[in-house]
Formats: sequence, C-alpha cells, structure tokens
Amino acid sequence: MLIVRDYSVILPLKPREMQRLLSKINREGPNGCWVWTGSAVSGYGRITLRGQTWSVHRLVFEAFVRHVKRREVVDHLCGNGLCCNPEHLQAIVQAINIERWRTARGNVHWRHKITHCRRGHPLSGDNLAWRRGRKGRKYRVCRICENNRKAEDERRRKAVEEAVRFWAEVAAKERARRRIGEKGASRGITAVGNKEELPPGEMPEPMEGSGPQGARRPVP
Ligand SMILES: [Zn+2]
Ligand SMILES: [Zn+2]
Repeated sequence: MLIVRDYSVILPLKPREMQRLLSKINREGPNGCWVWTGSAVSGYGRITLRGQTWSVHRLVFEAFVRHVKRREVVDHLCGNGLCCNPEHLQAIVQAINIERWRTARGNVHWRHKITHCRRGHPLSGDNLAWRRGRKGRKYRVCRICENNRKAEDERRRKAVEEAVRFWAEVAAKERARRRIGEKGASRGITAVGNKEELPPGEMPEPMEGSGPQGARRPVP
C-alpha cells in the first residue's frame, strides 16, 4: 500500500537528496520509462529521506510537476509502477463519481443528467464547450478542466526538462568535485566552498583565517 502523507514537508528536496533520488533512476527503461532501481514494495519504488519512507513516483511528481491534492493519487499512464518519468505520471481523483452512475436510473439519458464535471464545475454557460469525438459524436467538456489539463501537460513537459537539466548539473558538479579532489590531493589543499558537492562524511577542512568558515570568532 502506498504511504499517504503530506509531501510538502520534505519539498523542495535538498540538492544531495535530489541527487540520491535521481542516482537510483535508470532513464533508459523500455517505452521511455524512467525505472526506479532502488528498493520497492508491492511494485512501487520507495526511498528513505530524513528518516522517513516516501513513495518514489509520487515524490518525483510532487518535486517536478505539482502538489498532489487530497483525494488524488499519482497514476502511471504506462502501467509500470517503478516508472518515475513525469510524462508517464498523472495525478487523478481516485474515487469515481458514484453520483454519475446513480443518475443512470430514470428516463433521461444519464449523460444528460450530468450538470457538472467530475470536479464540480458547471457544464453550462461559458464553461461549457463541445468537442467532436470519434465517429463525429459530440460531447461536452468543462473548459476549466480542459485548460487545467493543457497547463498540466505543459508543466509535465517542463518537469522532464527540469529533471534532465538537474541531472546534467549533478553530473557536472560530480565531475568538478572529482577534479578538485585530484588537484587538492596533489597540491595538499582541500576543496573549500564545495561543501554541497562533497559526499557525506567528507566535510572540507576550513583553511585558517580565510573566509567566514576559517575566521576565528572572539570567545565571549
Ligand atoms: Zn513509464
Ligand atoms: Zn471541470
């Protein structure tokens, strides 16, 4: 079962947490899937950050796309529970609208009894739009929801770009860190000012008297 929790308490992720998250994702999965390679429970990826366990695809969605509202779940369009490609993830309202099916009883076609979209916007006035589906059949759509869907598609597309950019940055920093490490080792200095890029347990030694880290504070 997925853990339902307020993910905003951990977002935005710190660079190192983001790095850990992304380092366990294989972007070369089938069908464009970004496959989680870390631990998984019931077919869904899990990661432990700040001492708590988080659902990976939901974390990725909230980190890159948007906050997931109450009653919404993050669904896989690709059907692969380990996938965390934002383009394959969608936040949907889990509970189906039972009211819809109740109205199926009666003389009027159940569809005509629907006066509001599933999110509660009125299917009338300016908000009502008609679209033509397959076989030329007309159907009603909620403009608010349609616009939201478009905006979300756009956000999801941007999310992928952002994730890819972040990846590249992390990789570049990692390379730079290694270079500094090598240089530092040969010159006998440590990489001050690159704390963020250092792996855990490799805190830089402040150089004496240089910069805020090395400056001696007067003892009260
Ligand atoms: Zn996928
Ligand atoms: Zn709507």
